[in-house]
Amino acid sequence: MRPDPRSKPARPGGKRAVQGGGGHIARKRFGQNFLVDHGVIDEIVRAIAPQPGQHLVEIGPGLGALTNPVVERSEKLTVIELDRDLAARLRKRPELNVIESDVLRVDFGALAQEAGQKLRLIGNLPYNISSPILFHLLPWADQVIDQHFMLQKEVVDRMVATPGNKDYSRLSVMLQWRYRMECVVDVPPGSFDPPPKVDSAVVRMVPLATPPEVDLPEFTKMVAVAFSQRRKILRHTLGAWMAEHGIETEFDLQRRAEEVPVADYLALAALKKAKTPSA
Ligand code: SAM
Repeated sequence: MRPDPRSKPARPGGKRAVQGGGGHIARKRFGQNFLVDHGVIDEIVRAIAPQPGQHLVEIGPGLGALTNPVVERSEKLTVIELDRDLAARLRKRPELNVIESDVLRVDFGALAQEAGQKLRLIGNLPYNISSPILFHLLPWADQVIDQHFMLQKEVVDRMVATPGNKDYSRLSVMLQWRYRMECVVDVPPGSFDPPPKVDSAVVRMVPLATPPEVDLPEFTKMVAVAFSQRRKILRHTLGAWMAEHGIETEFDLQRRAEEVPVADYLALAALKKAKTPSA
């Protein structure tokens, strides 16, 4: 994979170097907030529980806060880093397989195939692209054992929210049909250098062993339609979508998108699939 042109070094502009980072200056455009609290790092590594022989892949290893304790336990580790200076440092370490790339361009199916086993994905994700990363990984869920990601706490709250909760959203539905998820560690801004403006949390995502059959692009479109006006009843949004596709069912359109369980969305998507003539 070719290095990304965005990985040109920024001009430091008088900013101070990251604590323990050997002179590295955090690049905001890469969402660089480095973990420096050893208590929190230990807690995250305990939640991941890496074992020798497993194929772990870390997204955004940065200065190695998680990389070091994880590779001590797993012996080998693949890391995906976009910042070319950080990737160059990581390449000096023979126990790491370094992929210098934008994670959104990485084919995780190919990685699993090369590894000859399912992957365990970890990372303190760049918050500016955390949802695109989660959506990028979704089609490969069957080649993944689990995912442990640090994200904005507010995003984790949306991922795990149940219907009727104020945080229940498109992200909840799009991930819950495929993963069992739980928040495993809460992390305050002071655990990072530089500290982010928001609280963070680590989420554990385990793909369901027997997921429902879903036409992912169609399901994605349908859920987006439902949540396009989340405060209005679904008659205005999904109602029109159902009429357009000739779907007649007892699905209650008097509800709002945020009240509908994932199973109901899945049932509706299955009806749409049944209506679509196969190629
Ligand atoms: N893991 C380190 C830690 O916990 O201290 C760094 C985490 S920092 C929040 C995010 C990391 O992701 C940075 O190292 C950054 O350079 C890297 N990164 C940002 N965008 C990326 C992308 N599109 N693909 C791969 N890595 C990326």
